[in-house]
Amino acid sequence: MKRRSLFSSAALGVGLVTALLSLPGGALAQSTPRPAAVAAVQSPDIPAANSMAHAQQFQSIAAANSGNRAHGKPGYRASADYVKSKLDAAGFQTTLQSFTHNGATGWNVIADWPQGDPNQIVFLGSHLDSVPAGPGINDNASGSSSVLETALAVSRADAKPTKRLRFGWWGAEELGLIGSKYYVANLPAAERSKIKSYLNFDMVGAKNTKTWGVYTDSTTLGATFTEFFRSKNIATKGINISGRSDHASFKNAGIEVSGITSGDDPCYHSKCDDINNIESSVMGHSTNAAAYAAWKLAGIPGQALPFRPAA
Ligand SMILES: [Zn+2]
Repeated sequence: MKRRSLFSSAALGVGLVTALLSLPGGALAQSTPRPAAVAAVQSPDIPAANSMAHAQQFQSIAAANSGNRAHGKPGYRASADYVKSKLDAAGFQTTLQSFTHNGATGWNVIADWPQGDPNQIVFLGSHLDSVPAGPGINDNASGSSSVLETALAVSRADAKPTKRLRFGWWGAEELGLIGSKYYVANLPAAERSKIKSYLNFDMVGAKNTKTWGVYTDSTTLGATFTEFFRSKNIATKGINISGRSDHASFKNAGIEVSGITSGDDPCYHSKCDDINNIESSVMGHSTNAAAYAAWKLAGIPGQALPFRPAA
């Protein structure tokens, strides 16, 4: 029963779990009905608390820096430093890429896991800046934390993927996808062609989320997310947010893209988009969806299992 040890009981379907629980203990050893929807890849089950701890750090960074993490403000640079320090300690090859916009310096954080074919890159990204009005926790400490925790899970698993995993945290998204556009525009064509897929995570922690939006830009990539959520008995709907987040910078360069979102909320771009504006269980599902996609698309083999939880 390897799968059950790696996936929550939700993967088996509520009815089946109820049936199993109501049986005498010995009956469990007998033939088990095939679950209706079981995820095809064994990715780690990352505790929601891990991602929430990063989101709390971004909240604290905003609180210590005039209440925001916006482009050109000290809270942005502190956010970038936090992400980079975690990745450096976990063994990633990291780059702090600077750019100038509106007379202020911005930064993208880029991190490569130094395993797998460098000519086939699976890229997960999220924007790291907030608007000046608030700390930007659903938008987008939620995505930044989910992607960071996925990267750290890759390190903890000492993963040996077939393809190269790259992670990005973009500056100045709120001012027009500035950081991601800069990154893509400054990649030589040969480097750009190595990026086989880009997955975007923007606003993935909204309270009371019951249905996740899956970007419809790529049917193939979108199906990876849908497969994960189905294994958890969670509903999805196809959405097209076109040019409204950083995936557009990659799509415009001919790269296959997708992503997920829990959607916005009453505190969108407001002061109240704080740590109380996101929900732990939603963060857990979003983070594990990101990890599932990373494991599946980069081809992390079973030898990387069992997953070693955080110390
Ligand atoms: Zn956003």
